[in-house]
Amino acid sequence: MSKTPQDIFNFAEFTDPCIKCGKCIPVCTIYNVNADEVTSPRGFLDLLGAYQRGKLDLDKNAKDIFESCFLCTACTEICPKSLPTDMVIEQVRNDIAQKFGIAWYKKAFFLLLRHRWMNDLAFKLGWVFQTCGFKIKADINSMSSRFNFPMLKADRLLPSLTKTSFLNSYPENINNGGKRKVAIFIGCLANYNYKGVGDGLLEILEHLGIDAFLAKSQKCCSAPAYFTGDFDTVDNNAKFNIEYFESFAEDVEAIIVPEATCSAMLKIDYEHFFHDQPEWKARAKALKDKIFMATEWLQHHTHLEKLLEQKKKDTKIVTYHDPCHARKMQDIYEEPRNLISKNYNIIEMSDPNSCCGFGGVTMQSEKYHFAKAAGIPKAAMIKKTKADVVSAECSACRMQINASMNYADVDIEFKNPIELIAQALRR
Ligand code: SF4
Ligand code: SF4
Repeated sequence: MSKTPQDIFNFAEFTDPCIKCGKCIPVCTIYNVNADEVTSPRGFLDLLGAYQRGKLDLDKNAKDIFESCFLCTACTEICPKSLPTDMVIEQVRNDIAQKFGIAWYKKAFFLLLRHRWMNDLAFKLGWVFQTCGFKIKADINSMSSRFNFPMLKADRLLPSLTKTSFLNSYPENINNGGKRKVAIFIGCLANYNYKGVGDGLLEILEHLGIDAFLAKSQKCCSAPAYFTGDFDTVDNNAKFNIEYFESFAEDVEAIIVPEATCSAMLKIDYEHFFHDQPEWKARAKALKDKIFMATEWLQHHTHLEKLLEQKKKDTKIVTYHDPCHARKMQDIYEEPRNLISKNYNIIEMSDPNSCCGFGGVTMQSEKYHFAKAAGIPKAAMIKKTKADVVSAECSACRMQINASMNYADVDIEFKNPIELIAQALRR
């Protein structure tokens, strides 16, 4: 008899320990925009327990419910049993993808993510033609559609494309003295859309006298596919990246990533994903200590803080948003604030740790009404600070926060902390 998905992944291990205390409900991003017990962490776990016992069919209704989670991990942070609701939902989304298939446009997008050359070509063509279909707002690397399509309404702000990607703008090896060396994993949004992040990181490394290896063969970390249940793409990209990282890991002190979602995927989710492939799980684990978020590594392993202290203070006020994949998954929140605060005044928003509402590819397409509903309160929170700049070390947050600020009529500039630090070093 062939194995069922429940034989392969034991959902009960994570659903049965839930004591139904409800502590997770007030912090849940989807519950806060859709106040229904079934779309709460406790509700998701209850349904997944029933699925394990064969009492729940993965029908369209169940698909709709499980696809409404933002995977923000707010519930796992507060749960007294540390239940990884997000990880269990990622798993069931694969069962959903097997049963219902994946929409053609997501398949096409994930195919691009598997091949760097296809990505380069598609984004280049996109850059050439983007002005035909979109109005460009170059100052904030954004654009909005000229037409009103169901998933692409004219009032929706999207990241615009750059002429040449970050990885294609520089040589693979950059020598800044030859004493120390790090590799850079840039992530797709910073590579094709928010190029200033990588430019800024190279400027910082130059000031510090640290050589950079751009790791040009890197593939997308595959987080978008993982959150959508396309495990074939994850398997393909994760194995490629692990082998590729192993080939140069000995030659560099660290692999630094100026992106919360990519670094959490490489450092934490690869290990979860390979739970049933022990050899690959061990290889992912062995690389873990080499991978850092950029501000984390710069704060703890360089004299950047001292260098910034010698530079002038800017009058700009910055408010910092904590990306879910940085603070909740990697405990990174002091480092970016500490480095930014050397040259800028920081003002905290009322809840910097609340999810921006990005939520992944399905949330940004079929369920965009939820993403929009979760994003607008965040924009209002940012507006209240009266800051000049909002910052977060995550380009997915940047895309979502820029769109939310546009809806809420908030005119505040967004910068990755790396861009702010590079700016401070120029003074
Ligand atoms: S991951 Fe976020 S949206 Fe999903 S159940 Fe947990 S708190 Fe709610
Ligand atoms: S906080 Fe944890 S144990 Fe309590 S209801 Fe939520 S998932 Fe269950």
